[in-house]
Amino acid sequence: MQRTAEVICVGTELLLGDILNSNAQFLAQELARLGIAHYHQTVVGDNPERIRQVVAIAQSRAQLLIFTGGLGPTPDDLTHETLASCFGVPLVEHPEILATIHEKFVRRGIPMAPSNRTQALLPLGAEVLTNSSGTAPGIIWQPQPPDNRELTILTFPGVPTEMKMMWRHVAVPYLQAHGWSQQTLHSRMLKFWGISESALAEQVQPMLASTNPTVAPYANWGEVKLRIAAVADSHDEAERLIEPMAQKIRAIAPDYYYGCDQDTLASVVGEMLLAQNATLAIAESCTGGGIGSQITEIPGSSAYFVGGVIAYDNRVKIQQLGVETTVLERQGAVSAAVAAQMAQGVKQRLGATWGLSITGIAGPDGGTPDKPVGLVYIGVAGPQGVQTFEHSLGSGRGRQWVRQLCASHGLNHLRLALRQLPTPGR
Ligand code: ATP
Repeated sequence: MQRTAEVICVGTELLLGDILNSNAQFLAQELARLGIAHYHQTVVGDNPERIRQVVAIAQSRAQLLIFTGGLGPTPDDLTHETLASCFGVPLVEHPEILATIHEKFVRRGIPMAPSNRTQALLPLGAEVLTNSSGTAPGIIWQPQPPDNRELTILTFPGVPTEMKMMWRHVAVPYLQAHGWSQQTLHSRMLKFWGISESALAEQVQPMLASTNPTVAPYANWGEVKLRIAAVADSHDEAERLIEPMAQKIRAIAPDYYYGCDQDTLASVVGEMLLAQNATLAIAESCTGGGIGSQITEIPGSSAYFVGGVIAYDNRVKIQQLGVETTVLERQGAVSAAVAAQMAQGVKQRLGATWGLSITGIAGPDGGTPDKPVGLVYIGVAGPQGVQTFEHSLGSGRGRQWVRQLCASHGLNHLRLALRQLPTPGR
């Protein structure tokens, strides 16, 4: 029989939508990585009766129950107390936990509240799942369900940093030692820009039917991704299944594919600039520094990024970038001619190999029938001249969508321009 795990996140603030359930996402990814089957997740509020109902259902269909949240000292932290009552055992105080909690308070120089004592109470028979960074320990427990079915319960505090550390350092070695993780699921995310999810899915249609590795499309903020995931006995073996599939897919959409996993358009452009021993300057109007921010997020970007001008007002376009007044008057600030002069101006004035510019109407106001909200011009000036590109991004998805999308389009046009030039020494 296949053993399965179930994740149960306790916390009324999760149900109210006050916080995002990032613990469930982390645990789901980890279970997949370890090859542990996981078919259900539950979020339940800080209510003992409803936690009991969840435990009753979960233990009837899974052998590993993973709890997060509700281990704190306040009266609404009920996870251990409720679990003990579900399996008919008392809570027992662990003097060594109490001593550790007390020590942590002494080290911080604050008095320990009497309520913290409850965190040293664990169900009878449960082992301590040590929490080295916080106060609340979790448990590793094999309780005795009435029908003697196999059952392991792990509990973690809600605080994500504490939960992750305890998971990695204690829970994963425990699960591996207890035969929970024989196979590993490994995946690679291929990233594309400039193609729609449906168009890409159509082109890779035959591959979507593959079972190991599997191929699944995702789309987010204009970016399309294909996740290739393989289950194998080892990481290397999974990689051997993934690589040929990745090669086939890259060959199908070579212009749109830009990188994988942690790559971003900004990081890929940075690598290309480095390889070409080239530098970049940018002139941003409607993105207000958003491209500069993406570029400078990359460690080491000072090797190729010279700087930028946020040319919002026309005076800045004229005085700082040398855009001609007549061109601004005749064509308007949002025009291909102005984008070209901004890119050339910033390249020349900041002494860079490449100049990238953006001018557009992010909205919600400022659109006209000729130049509606979402109209954007991008200029890319390089060693072989200047090119401009027009995009109509629409007004429907709001100002942030236009700003973010045109920044990515700008980086992508620069990527494609850089690709046309040979890399020195190759
Ligand atoms: P504490 O010792 O801090 O009281 P706890 O185990 O009682 O820990 P909770 O009180 O349930 O945990 O949650 C503490 C904080 O951890 C929450 O305010 C929230 O910021 C975060 N948190 C809780 N559950 C989750 C979750 N599922 N995903 C992401 N963050 C969470």
